Amino acid sequence: MKILRLIALLLLTTFVAGVQPADSFEMQRQLMVREVADMAAETRSYTGKNRFDERVMQAMGRVPRHEFVPESVRSHAYANRPLPIGNGQTISQPYIVALMTDLGEVRENSVVLEIGTGSGYQAAVLAELVRHVYTIEIVEVLGKTAERTLGRLGYDNVTVRIGDGYGGWPEHAPFDAILVTAAPEELPPALVEQLKPGGKLIVPVGSQQAPQSLKVVSRDAAGRVTMRDVLPVGFVPMQSGE
Ligand code: SAH
Repeated sequence: MKILRLIALLLLTTFVAGVQPADSFEMQRQLMVREVADMAAETRSYTGKNRFDERVMQAMGRVPRHEFVPESVRSHAYANRPLPIGNGQTISQPYIVALMTDLGEVRENSVVLEIGTGSGYQAAVLAELVRHVYTIEIVEVLGKTAERTLGRLGYDNVTVRIGDGYGGWPEHAPFDAILVTAAPEELPPALVEQLKPGGKLIVPVGSQQAPQSLKVVSRDAAGRVTMRDVLPVGFVPMQSGE
């Protein structure tokens, strides 16, 4: 009897030790999703909406953000703020990732381009929702690390390219949505050209001296392009490849 109880206890400890970290990340992630929802409600006067698309929020609740950040900041992985990922770059704030994904109005069969892979987190959130994500990163070590993380987690509908994303990715254009996660000083014309009719380009535009403006550029069915400003934001600058 005693020995049985000992075995049961041993099994229990192994079980608890084995699942606790994952469980606590899961709990933290659900809290993060709630914070994002609260912030979405607080910023409705900018965005014109009280809440983000339910599918976007579900994707935020599934992607393991802790897998995309360096070990040193893993305990903060589910804080609603940007975190350093090395090479002077950051993983965007979860609220911003959710907002940009929501503004992209993506569907299951969408093909999406992201400029600024960084950690790969935004690409993973998109990959949960669309057919394929093409993503370009200018810093080789970041792009390679993101590619490995995405592969390890089973995101086989993401293609990472190392290079300058300013000119987009003409070979796979046009896109249903383009998300730019580094700020150019002016709107990159090639990205507007690579939008499908009905497509959305979400891009923070501005210099580093003042807050940038997160813009939504829409191409309508007739090909006409319109633009609106959504929110003042602070992204890392878009670098030039030359
Ligand atoms: N989307 C990322 C956040 C990236 S931060 C995430 O989810 O983690 C912005 C990234 O854009 C940085 O990694 C930076 O190296 C990259 N970047 C800057 N200029 C670029 C350019 N011209 N082309 C491609 N990537 C660029």
